[in-house]
Amino acid sequence: MTKRKFGWTDVEVPAIGQGTWMIEGSQAQEQRAVAALRLGLDLGMTHIDTAEMYGNGRAEELTGEAIASRRNDVFLVSKVLPYNASYDGTLRACERSLKRLGTDSLDLYLLHWSGRHPIRETMRAMETLVQRGCIRFIGVSNLDLEELKEAQRALRHERLACNQVLYHLGDRGIEYRLLPYCAEQRIAVVAYSPFGHSSFPSPAGRGGGVLAAIARKQGGTARQVVLNFLTRHPGVFTIPKASREEHVLENSRSLDWELSAEDLKAIDRAFPSPDHEVPLGML
Ligand code: NAP
Repeated sequence: MTKRKFGWTDVEVPAIGQGTWMIEGSQAQEQRAVAALRLGLDLGMTHIDTAEMYGNGRAEELTGEAIASRRNDVFLVSKVLPYNASYDGTLRACERSLKRLGTDSLDLYLLHWSGRHPIRETMRAMETLVQRGCIRFIGVSNLDLEELKEAQRALRHERLACNQVLYHLGDRGIEYRLLPYCAEQRIAVVAYSPFGHSSFPSPAGRGGGVLAAIARKQGGTARQVVLNFLTRHPGVFTIPKASREEHVLENSRSLDWELSAEDLKAIDRAFPSPDHEVPLGML
């Protein structure tokens, strides 16, 4: 699995990691999801993204199960809900997440999206968590440019390591201003919902047809073409969620080959990037 420096940090993180939203369910579904996460770790997809929100903490518990005995192999990320993101609330939320995950520290802790608590309070709590050794790096999610700059300004001792944002072929808005800014500041961009969550382009449609044609030519699949395309920028990482082992295997092989300039042009034509500022998309 291709690894790259995570923003300004010295840590090498795989370009393709694993999401955990909606991995909870029946016992059989949960077992399958845990097995899929473990296979992903075996295949080098060691960036695991979770959140206190997912399944009301259940996704963190299942993630804890998947990473038990191999915590050191994992770049572990979780998020605090905006409702909990006061100074004290953030500290308490992190403690609960660590307990559910069965670990004593996170590699990265994110504000899930901005809410009613002033961001400077959340960032102050994040700095306390770094000082206490509970988290290694501080990040945010779903912050558009102005809010991102506010978060940066609020940090007094640490630097912002990442912004996790919606980025898929149907929503390329970040390419206009946010991604160039993050690249300049060496803030890692983590693309969530790379397959559009549940709206992957159908092979019967024009865009889906383009992906299928590229996949055939490259000997890959349409999903692999997408992951390859989204991570073409060296500052971008992605975290597809897959609770089936065959999907994990497929995703892990996405960067085994390169898209040609001609492929990139065909994708641009089928899924154009906006030529003006658009508000940051969010799921
Ligand atoms: P996604 O990764 O775009 O798509 C997940 C769907 O794609 C699942 O139904 C999965 O099926 C399917 N899939 C995965 N690999 C596949 C393959 N190779 N072939 C066919 N189908 C495949 O959606 P997402 O879960 O919304 O986003 C990914 C992660 O980003 C989340 O899990 C979460 O960790 C994070 N996220 C963050 C935010 C935020 O606000 N920060 C918001 C949304 C998501 P199976 O499960 O059946 O394998």
